[in-house]
Amino acid sequence: MEVNKLYQFSILNALMDGVADEGINVSTMLESGDHGLGTFKHMDGEMVVIDGIVYQMKQDGSIVVADPEMVVPFAMVTRFQPTQVSHGSLSGKDALDLHISEHLPNARNLFVAIRIDGQFEHITVRTVGKQEYPGECLVDVGKRQVVRTLSNTTGTLVGFYSPGFSQGLSVAGYHLHFLEDNRRNGGHMLDFRGGNMQISLSPITRVELELPQSNGFNSATLLADAGNIQQVEG
Ligand SMILES: [Zn+2]
Repeated sequence: MEVNKLYQFSILNALMDGVADEGINVSTMLESGDHGLGTFKHMDGEMVVIDGIVYQMKQDGSIVVADPEMVVPFAMVTRFQPTQVSHGSLSGKDALDLHISEHLPNARNLFVAIRIDGQFEHITVRTVGKQEYPGECLVDVGKRQVVRTLSNTTGTLVGFYSPGFSQGLSVAGYHLHFLEDNRRNGGHMLDFRGGNMQISLSPITRVELELPQSNGFNSATLLADAGNIQQVEG
């Protein structure tokens, strides 16, 4: 498997339009990467892939290792081999911005794979629940999201920076999912502050995009704008 190539299944705007019935399965996704994030059929929780293990973090707070046959309507994964590893403290996305611009000065218009391991003084995460009916859009699913703030915990943030031009294909900016070391809590990261962290990065210049051939994808408009995406993806 090629390292540090992004494999993406479907696009963020398909989720925005509620296209989440069909997809690849977990075992197929793992052929393309061991690090990443996504969601499951009907947007049933948040997915995080850490060291090749796929976790489903559900709205009720429970976390399970995903079954290999589970359907994945959206995912971004890479075989992660960090090219830049450093240690320090970070508080939020602005600090991460500064960190990346210092350590990967030419990556603003690239994708960047990111992994942050360490101590979190606090971290705010959300988990979405399932669609209540087929095709329910992500903004409406997001209205039932559960937000939790965890304090003084250790864990891992996994995900990607996506460049501005890719808005709609993915979430432009940071998209990171968190999982505690004890695997008890996690979700889509909204804010964090931490110390004693190991920050691992790799710029991504090669991207493989696989699009769904489903009827749902065919009939979606896929035109969600930055405002809608910001509202639900923070
Ligand atoms: Zn997410």
